[in-house]
Amino acid sequence: MPSSRPAVKIKNGGMEKDTKKKKEGETTITTPTATTTSNNIIIEPQQPFTLNPKTWKCWAHSIHGRRCTSFVKIRNGEPIPVPYCDKHLSSGDGALKVVNHGLLGKCLIARYTLPSKYRLVYHGPRGKCHNCYKEDRAISFYPPNSKSGKNKDPNNGNKTNVTNNYNGVLNPDGTGCMVQFSSCPGPNERQNMRSTFNYWGKRNGNYGGLEFKTIEVIPQNAQLCFWYGPGWWSARGVKRLDVGTVKHPAPLRVLVCNNQAKKNSEKDTTNVTNGKKQKAKKKTKSATGTSVGSTTARKKRKVAA
Ligand SMILES: [Zn+2]
Repeated sequence: MPSSRPAVKIKNGGMEKDTKKKKEGETTITTPTATTTSNNIIIEPQQPFTLNPKTWKCWAHSIHGRRCTSFVKIRNGEPIPVPYCDKHLSSGDGALKVVNHGLLGKCLIARYTLPSKYRLVYHGPRGKCHNCYKEDRAISFYPPNSKSGKNKDPNNGNKTNVTNNYNGVLNPDGTGCMVQFSSCPGPNERQNMRSTFNYWGKRNGNYGGLEFKTIEVIPQNAQLCFWYGPGWWSARGVKRLDVGTVKHPAPLRVLVCNNQAKKNSEKDTTNVTNGKKQKAKKKTKSATGTSVGSTTARKKRKVAA
């Protein structure tokens, strides 16, 4: 790990509840607690947007590690807007960076170390699904409830509303959606972010988004990966490959990590054993006097010869 990589310090671990007495009908706004890093980057935890516009503070951070201070407005009559201001909707979250992978086109990396549960958005104009050979990055859109803004249905045991709710796709092409460049982890790798099934937008609307969250700390320059699903590969006839590189690693599966640690440990043990053997050999030689460069030894050898 390079020494320049900042260590993440988490102050009080995320959200804090407002301690002020709540009046009837008043929505509690949580006060975020920042995550700071040694190079003065402050990651402010992003609050989930509710129906209260006071919670609609843009989720993005600048490239220098400061939270955007803009508040988001409704764009298309949706109950809750996509949680980026217009600027970050088109330029993307500065906490992330799209770089050339070298082998696989482009990939998404962390510009600076990101904490677990960092929120991101897959977003784009809503439309019809084209053939995957034509368009590769569109994701299915399941609009939230037009009143509650939630994808969970209280009339159906608060279950996620998937059945009969498909409403085309969100196509991120040409937008500032950074998540569209995330790779799918290879056979020896694991995902470090995932979708939550929280959508923004409205049925037959112009624009929508889907929430993603990191599920572990993402070190600076590491890739952000999420599992595309087995259907993605079979539909394209493409073989899955590991995507991590030396410059931009992807997290390895635990089994692979364990095997690698075991290999390294075996290597170390072998070295230690060899060292012991060598020492023991030297000791034996010394004991027999064959390797001792003393006059006595030389004389003894001459005698023996
Ligand atoms: Zn913003």
